[in-house]
Amino acid sequence: MISAEEVKELSSRCVKCGLCLASCPVYQEILTEEASPRGRVQLAKHIFHGQEEKSSGVSEKLAEAFYLCTSCNACSVSCPSQIKPTEVIQEGREEIFAAGGAPEPVKAVKENILNTANVYAAKKEDRTAVYPAALRERIGAKGPRKADTVLFLGCVASYLDMKIVPSFIKIMDAAKVDYTLFAEEELCCGLPLYVMGDKENFRKNAKEVIDMIKKTGAREIVTPCAGCYKTFRKYYPEVGDMGVQIYHSVHYILKLIEMKALDFDLKTNKKVTYHDPCDLGRTFEIFDEPREVLKAVLEHEPLELERSRLLARCCGGGGSVTAVGPELAAEMAKTRIKDAEEVGAEVIVSGCSTCKDNLRKGLKLIPKAERPKIRVKDITEIVAEAIT
Ligand code: SF4
Ligand code: SF4
Repeated sequence: MISAEEVKELSSRCVKCGLCLASCPVYQEILTEEASPRGRVQLAKHIFHGQEEKSSGVSEKLAEAFYLCTSCNACSVSCPSQIKPTEVIQEGREEIFAAGGAPEPVKAVKENILNTANVYAAKKEDRTAVYPAALRERIGAKGPRKADTVLFLGCVASYLDMKIVPSFIKIMDAAKVDYTLFAEEELCCGLPLYVMGDKENFRKNAKEVIDMIKKTGAREIVTPCAGCYKTFRKYYPEVGDMGVQIYHSVHYILKLIEMKALDFDLKTNKKVTYHDPCDLGRTFEIFDEPREVLKAVLEHEPLELERSRLLARCCGGGGSVTAVGPELAAEMAKTRIKDAEEVGAEVIVSGCSTCKDNLRKGLKLIPKAERPKIRVKDITEIVAEAIT
């Protein structure tokens, strides 16, 4: 939490150097000052100290400036004045949300989560449609049994993707992990609520998820979603202790590889590059683990994108941008696909279901005649494909 005074102090530190402009994926697409980290920091001052603006309601334009941010944190990494624009912008969204000024698509996402426990207003029965049939049969309708490990799959992998969940399960089964899942009862982790600035509902949702996890008696939780992982590690401690060790799938798979619990006899000889998801890379500096996992399943070293690790270009899938500006989110992903094309990659792999979904949209945006022959995959897929 940053106070209004801190926002004022932080924004006064801006020396207008513009270094954050080059790193901001949104600014790089729309090139307007209000879409730049620098511009948003100055606008935050206005929200916190412009009484006139607050009493007359937040203008659509002002709200858009704050919600068209992927929360990628690239600006904070590049700012020499250590302003942390990402945090200032998050505070701005909380103020705007409280004043009722959040854009309509953001409010719709909130309603979806509150009414259906997922971002898409999908039926809870459909959460398990992507599970392998044997797993569905094993789980039945009894709810989660007690186990050492709980798998938390996330809304994107469960509802929008056909491959991440079956691949993740295949790896866990191959390593004979004793796991349980919430199946139809799994809830959204609540990251969209946090990002939109709805702290009250975020807290309520987080408390429910924490209670569910505690009831399983598990000692560890594993998720293939970088967003869920970030939420559990960074935001849930504000609400309560989950009482479990938190793993992203890349950590867990690397642990299984080191324990020699997995055999890879179908390594791929394709040219593969890794896209660092902001929620793993810049947030937790998880850079080496996914590359180590890839080395174990590839014939050749993974290719490095020109902008990678701490300076990785955001794919555009984070924050509220997919809700408020879906075309803009896909444009940013298209730019990232072009990065992969430049290094001659045949496959771009990520460790985040949202990155995968958005990168696929970016690829489709390129006209067929010019579209590079690049496949977009999650790291769980490429690992599962190497297992017979
Ligand atoms: S967090 Fe990312 S998208 Fe948001 S202002 Fe900073 S660089 Fe731009
Ligand atoms: S990098 Fe920091 S100091 Fe420079 S313009 Fe951006 S916000 Fe201001």
